[in-house]
Amino acid sequence: MSYSRLQSDQDRRSCWVCFATEEDDRSAQWVRPCRCRGTAKWVHQTCLQRWVDEKQKGNSTVKVACPQCNTEYLILFPKLGPVVYVMDIIDRVIYKMCPFVADGIFIGTVYWTMVTYGAVTVMQVLGHKEGLNVMEQADPLFLLIGLPTIPLMLVLGKMVRWEDYVLRLWRKHSSKLPLLNYLFPDEHSRMSRVPADTVTLTDPISATRVLCGALIMPTIATIVGKLMFGLVQSNFQRTLLGGIAFIAIKGVLKIYYKQQQYLRQANRVIKDYEEVGESSATATPTSEDGAATNEG
Ligand SMILES: [Zn+2]
Ligand SMILES: [Zn+2]
Repeated sequence: MSYSRLQSDQDRRSCWVCFATEEDDRSAQWVRPCRCRGTAKWVHQTCLQRWVDEKQKGNSTVKVACPQCNTEYLILFPKLGPVVYVMDIIDRVIYKMCPFVADGIFIGTVYWTMVTYGAVTVMQVLGHKEGLNVMEQADPLFLLIGLPTIPLMLVLGKMVRWEDYVLRLWRKHSSKLPLLNYLFPDEHSRMSRVPADTVTLTDPISATRVLCGALIMPTIATIVGKLMFGLVQSNFQRTLLGGIAFIAIKGVLKIYYKQQQYLRQANRVIKDYEEVGESSATATPTSEDGAATNEG
């Protein structure tokens, strides 16, 4: 048949990797691994293996396809012996488990650090002896849940930016309060523009700052409590009062600082460009005016 003659014509094998033909090497093993037609379909088994190795770069699970026709090569492995088969499965299971185990260890470590921090805080706030007594009498399950909640609550509490809400309310209603008008006279007529307040109100929360601030809070509360409320007998009440006082004082200072920054932004002035040689007499009044509003 004509078909078989055509096929024998096409069967003049030539390896597309090393370009050798059948005559060059009679013993070499041939393979036609893809949909390619003509002489391009033939390749030496060893040449193709080398090429697959190169593509896989050591990872034998990577799929490799013909660069011409994109057919994925069918790679067959010899059957595994039972020992190797079991070892292979164990290896794969361990490989998949490791991330979970690592996560578990990490979470466990964080949890026990939180428990420890909670216990230290209880002793700090209630006093060493009383704190130990309370924890000894408490239900262990309650401690395992309650103690790590202490640092968690401190951090969450620190993330509440109540100063910003107060500041926003203040800006809205300050004109109606005579005392504030006295402290910041003529605020609204003095503000030459409304600044883009997104920067002052929502500066990015630095995670480390929140964490450090929250975790050091009980220590600060204890110190402030001892300094300001030394007459209070109960350790807990004294520390609580110290904490509230510290937060209030810091909040007021922060609000004052932010409001001043806000006003500075509102009253900034962009100066005229001064030509070299031009008399400076005309520019002097505006620069003095700008400096005066900046200081206020
Ligand atoms: Zn070859
Ligand atoms: Zn192909």
